[in-house]
Amino acid sequence: MPSVADYFGINVFSEAQMKERLSASAYEALHRTIDEGVELTKDAAAEIAEAMKNWAVEKGATHYTHWFQPLTGTTAEKHDSFISAPDAEGKIIMEFSGKELIKGETDGSSFPSGGLRATFEARGYTAWDCTSPAFIKPSSAGPILCIPTAFCSYTGEALDKKTPLLRSMEAINEQALRILRLFGNTTSKRVMPSVGAEQEYFLIDRAKYLQRPDLIFTGRTLFGAKPPKGQEMDDHYFGKIRERIGAFMKDVDEDLWRMGVSSKTEHNEVAPAQHELAPIYAVANVAADHNQLIMETLKRMAKRHNLRCLLHEKPFAGVNGSGKHNNWSLVSDDGINLLNPGRHPHKNTCFMLVLACIIEAVDKHADLLRESAADAGNDLRLGADEAPPAIISVFLGDQLEDIVEQYIRSGSATTSITGDVFRSGVSTLPDFVKDATDRNRTSPFAFTGNKFEFRAVGSNDSISEANVVLNAIVAEAFCRAADALEGSEDITAAANEYIAKLFREHGRVIFNGDGYSKEWREEAARRGLPNRPTMVDAVPALTTESTVKLFEKFKIFTEPELLSRSEIAYESYAKTVNIEANTMVDMASKMLIPAVIRYAGRLARSINDVKAACSSANTTIQTELLIKINDLVNEAGRAVEKLEEVTVSSRTIEDAALRAKAYRDDVIPAMKALRDPIDSLEMIVDKTYWPVPTYGQLLFEV
Ligand code: ADP
Ligand code: MG
Repeated sequence: MPSVADYFGINVFSEAQMKERLSASAYEALHRTIDEGVELTKDAAAEIAEAMKNWAVEKGATHYTHWFQPLTGTTAEKHDSFISAPDAEGKIIMEFSGKELIKGETDGSSFPSGGLRATFEARGYTAWDCTSPAFIKPSSAGPILCIPTAFCSYTGEALDKKTPLLRSMEAINEQALRILRLFGNTTSKRVMPSVGAEQEYFLIDRAKYLQRPDLIFTGRTLFGAKPPKGQEMDDHYFGKIRERIGAFMKDVDEDLWRMGVSSKTEHNEVAPAQHELAPIYAVANVAADHNQLIMETLKRMAKRHNLRCLLHEKPFAGVNGSGKHNNWSLVSDDGINLLNPGRHPHKNTCFMLVLACIIEAVDKHADLLRESAADAGNDLRLGADEAPPAIISVFLGDQLEDIVEQYIRSGSATTSITGDVFRSGVSTLPDFVKDATDRNRTSPFAFTGNKFEFRAVGSNDSISEANVVLNAIVAEAFCRAADALEGSEDITAAANEYIAKLFREHGRVIFNGDGYSKEWREEAARRGLPNRPTMVDAVPALTTESTVKLFEKFKIFTEPELLSRSEIAYESYAKTVNIEANTMVDMASKMLIPAVIRYAGRLARSINDVKAACSSANTTIQTELLIKINDLVNEAGRAVEKLEEVTVSSRTIEDAALRAKAYRDDVIPAMKALRDPIDSLEMIVDKTYWPVPTYGQLLFEV
């Protein structure tokens, strides 16, 4: 049996491979680009391309692709083979030039650009992100060399999710170094955001999936009565992993490990058929690439195991949805984690300043942070008693909250509560020092020891936007702090004063209680914290004055780029709901209502048959059932008409924001008005007549 260490990263054009295959000068040139942002020379690019191609060809690859992340939220690729034009004798060679490595050209007009480009200005470029290693991906078309790239328009506007992420990483690097220098650090050269994204997903049986048009077209169920058993027994969370799922996870891990993705933790989640995969954290852009690979691998492997992987945020009403906890910290090249409080945080002024800046950033830009996790599917999850609410608040835990209170009261802190010793009361179990704080699952933005965990991100979403926003807003707060504190004679005193000021001004965003409760919504409103329950409410945050100022200051987005992103967000919302509405109409008209009518006919005939056989027989129950079914089917039929009507009227609205609003305010309620009678019917119609698998079958028969 090969050990994991033997094949981990075997499909990555890794540091070790580069060192082995490149000349010293090309290797150094590449590192100057990676570490210092110096432009790569033509000669070095040519040599790297040649080495990369030889490596890939040895591994059986015939094609390469510039792998990028357009604003659709998934990845895009166009495969080119390495073959050259045949020579006079009809022979070809495998070739790959430096230019092909560095730059690709695509007809970008078919990707969303939110009005950034007209179709006659269709040129788009992909540019190599040499800080995220190239890798070979298995596919039905054979192994493919994937080169992570950014995607921009002819005139340089970002058309993807990677470009702004890289820009935001440069911003936070520069500002975080200023903070470190304040406290005498001279050794660190770079500070990068580290990100670990825990991915939740559902697995269901493929054959059952294929019987549900709603799952096929929208990724979630649009109808479905509650099964007799849900998640109330809490028996799935961390439960024993079923054989079929275990075999799937094993294959997922092996594929990911070969591609250098350090898949680490796997377990069953709260809902039946729900699972989670968490990798070991990596630098933000690599983590974002890896998360895309994880999602892709989960889907591909599920098919191979006759399963389907659902990444939708809320595939089933009434059971937990799926999110993607985005763990975020700031780590220097020499290993300092700026979010590590140490054992006595009150003595760690640098950490306290970092913390205060983060709190300022989150309070000031709560609306933008909320927006970074907005998508139509996530609207169904956030605040649904299982996921954090759409109100952004920060959980610090007892220890840090106590220190914050000391600062607010007296301008500095003199003590830190430390973790007690854990005692089980059983002599054979070990005693150990507990964490200084407990967990809080209900908070959207929680401090968890040496990182913040942003829990609002949806399971289907890219993590890029969330990290762009985190990097940018914290860079801004760092910049302000450094401006205020650089040159201070007594840095500790000056920093303490500054920290106390920030806690006093922005402490309202700290909340350690139950984020799911109704009381918190009321309390948050009293504190003036924004509550943006739907994506449509969230999108305006992209184009406010404070957002534009923030992003322009750090050259992360221009105003036109932001406007285009808000346009795309509205469009994607309207399109998503439109597809859902169409699918409901289709299923109701062609599958569900006809099935109910067939059953009603059967019931009517049976009443007549019983009467004919025995005229004194009591058929009250059957008759009542028939009337009830008939009433509900009428209600459903009317609801279909209404849903069609409002879908048409919403679709024709010109303005994207107004169109999205119409889908939210008119179409979504009409969808509910159709689902209700159909779900009631599912509970009373003979099971053999029901044309699609039920929740019970989908969730428990895997
Ligand atoms: P839990 O579910 O208890 O929050 P998991 O182990 O499932 O924890 O996931 C935690 C995630 O956080 C992992 O992806 C892990 O690599 C990541 N992580 C740990 N430390 C850091 C850090 N300093 N910065 C960013 N991510 C981190
Ligand atoms: Mg976890």
